[in-house]
Amino acid sequence: MVTPHGGTLVNRVVSKRRREELMEDASEMPSFRLSGGLRKDAQNIASGLYSPLEGFLCRDDMENVLEHSRLSNDIPWTIPILLDMREEEAKRFTEGDSVILESEDGKPFCLMDIEEIFTYSKKEFAEKVYGTDDINHPGVQKTMDMGSHLMGGTITQLDELPDPFEKYALKPMETRVLFKEKGWRTVVGFQTRNVPHNGHEYIQKTALTFVDGIFINPIIGKKKPGDFTDELILDTYDILIKNYYLKNRAVMSILETEMRYAGPKEAIFHSIVRKNFGCTHFIVGRDHAGVGGYYAPYAAQDIFEEFPDLGITPIFFKSFTHCWKCGGAVDGFICPHGDEHRENFSGSKMREMLVRGQIPPEHMMRPEVAKMVIETEKKFVV
Ligand SMILES: [Zn+2]
Repeated sequence: MVTPHGGTLVNRVVSKRRREELMEDASEMPSFRLSGGLRKDAQNIASGLYSPLEGFLCRDDMENVLEHSRLSNDIPWTIPILLDMREEEAKRFTEGDSVILESEDGKPFCLMDIEEIFTYSKKEFAEKVYGTDDINHPGVQKTMDMGSHLMGGTITQLDELPDPFEKYALKPMETRVLFKEKGWRTVVGFQTRNVPHNGHEYIQKTALTFVDGIFINPIIGKKKPGDFTDELILDTYDILIKNYYLKNRAVMSILETEMRYAGPKEAIFHSIVRKNFGCTHFIVGRDHAGVGGYYAPYAAQDIFEEFPDLGITPIFFKSFTHCWKCGGAVDGFICPHGDEHRENFSGSKMREMLVRGQIPPEHMMRPEVAKMVIETEKKFVV
């Protein structure tokens, strides 16, 4: 089994007894309410998904990540995980004290030991993480909306929060046990935010020919209007796996984190997270985690050369199409035929057909998947 990032799987979830001891002091502590994105980050730190992080970053680690894409102990890390707040909120807290962290609907679930309260340059953060300070970039926009102050320190999760996707929300500790039970020595992670078409299946199965199992890991959470709903993505993958995958070669579980659209740097971050789940390999496609034209098409693949010590092997895919002459999905490495024989897997074209209630041709999408999309009433985020 692949070693967690940094050597040990972090576990910042307390036992019941310890929880009771901590809760005795908790009533006198100040509290701070997290947004959905920060709440997910806190849960991911606690569950070990962000190992070796044990809390939100302090200044030294943040500066190292921005400057060198490494934590101050030299472990690769590309996206600073930060807890931000406005200045007047920061004034309520003191370094060395503890604070109770609440979910977005006011439920206390975490305790944080405040190590450091500090300020930072948003412009520098944006330029280093996103490679631009263009306000039209959604990540830059989000950065500019952040509070002026940051609070770093170790967190301890006191309570599990209810999760609407509980059935699919395996923790890294659980996926590691599951992969071991299945006898998988090599596992490839696949990230998705879409209903699957045959192009996706081609990528997954190509990778699956030389590893023991595939871990299909949709990113769940905040979406743009017009995106497929989380429920539909999970349902369509469920039916695809049931009908077209060997029973013991595929596992699906979700990743709850907000997309940053940081392209290459996020590709490294996404790999680290999959390594912590127990993956030995991770599929990185064209423009992974990209947005608009901010990153070169294969920048998210090239960046891996800078991280020989990452501890997870990326698998790169170029673009792929259906070739009528080959009679299946292909990429430029295996098909010698010209464009006149090829047909793109156009997500938008398939989508238009599905909205009209039409089943796309079988070489584009599995009929079971198409049928499920057509029959589902709530297809898109509004
Ligand atoms: Zn061909």
